[in-house]
Amino acid sequence: MPFPPLSGPIDLHTHSSVSDGTQAPGELVREAASLGLGAVALTDHDSTAGWAEASAAALDAGIALLPGMELSTRIEWASVHILGYLLDPANEELAAETARIRSGRRDRAERIVERIAVDYDLTWDDVLEQTSPGGTVGRPHIADALVARGFVSDRSTAFQTILHWRGGYFQPHYAPDPLTGVQLLRAAGGVPVLAHPATGGRGKVIPEQNLAKLVDAGLFGLEIDHRENTPDGRARLHELAGKFGLAVTGSSDYHGSGKPNRLAENSTSPAVLEAILEAGTGSAPVLP
Ligand code: AMP
Ligand code: FE
Ligand code: FE
Ligand code: ZN
Repeated sequence: MPFPPLSGPIDLHTHSSVSDGTQAPGELVREAASLGLGAVALTDHDSTAGWAEASAAALDAGIALLPGMELSTRIEWASVHILGYLLDPANEELAAETARIRSGRRDRAERIVERIAVDYDLTWDDVLEQTSPGGTVGRPHIADALVARGFVSDRSTAFQTILHWRGGYFQPHYAPDPLTGVQLLRAAGGVPVLAHPATGGRGKVIPEQNLAKLVDAGLFGLEIDHRENTPDGRARLHELAGKFGLAVTGSSDYHGSGKPNRLAENSTSPAVLEAILEAGTGSAPVLP
């Protein structure tokens, strides 16, 4: 696809109120434009429901918009997130799987709230009040309810205490395994990139044999420049990217005021964006 030169930084990982960000999709896109970004991807957890609003805002504000999603997958207790760009939102297999994940997330949030309610005066309605209709429910909404009730001062504190997996209330949610995730995204014409793959301690990243299987299934890249990747982990990921010929991306994982991450605090090169635009066949970007 012919690709006009973009003037500002490219941020390929953001969340709106369709999942656990704090701004509506259009508001997020307008903020990105006003900060001078050249392109932004909307990657809500397990949902494409924000695409239409984000696209309209991008056209209006003169910024490029890459429609995307952050797909939840899991290996035992460890969650593995896979960013998918330019996928077909109407693809039946992918739409069915994301519906199943969203419903699993909701059930799991209810189970977490049941456990918390033993020790704190918190109800499921308190949590529902923090979500948007049809949106993807996550621990951040439980965090917001705990803040509203005055049990913690902000989301980050909630994650470090009551919502921490060691906090005693944690429950996992349904998600497919990462190989299935990559296959689903590719089959929907999407471009899969492993999100923040080095957040574990001691530079621990995905074992090489497992990565090889994801690459065979069509994995396109690794999100290496992300604030939560450890320095040792990043070095290892660069080796793996070189070995497997994977693209390297950088992004903010912006969640509005819900997380300290700022738009464009990390960014992706225009060459990699262009490669993603060439590889994605399931939907069209908005180009200014
Ligand atoms: P969940 O997917 O429901 O297990 O919740 C984890 C999600 O919470 C991840 O997507 C994080 O990015 C998000 N999150 C939002 N705000 C925060 C925060 N302040 N601290 C940690 N995680 C956060
Ligand atoms: Fe999130
Ligand atoms: Fe993530
Ligand atoms: Zn994210």
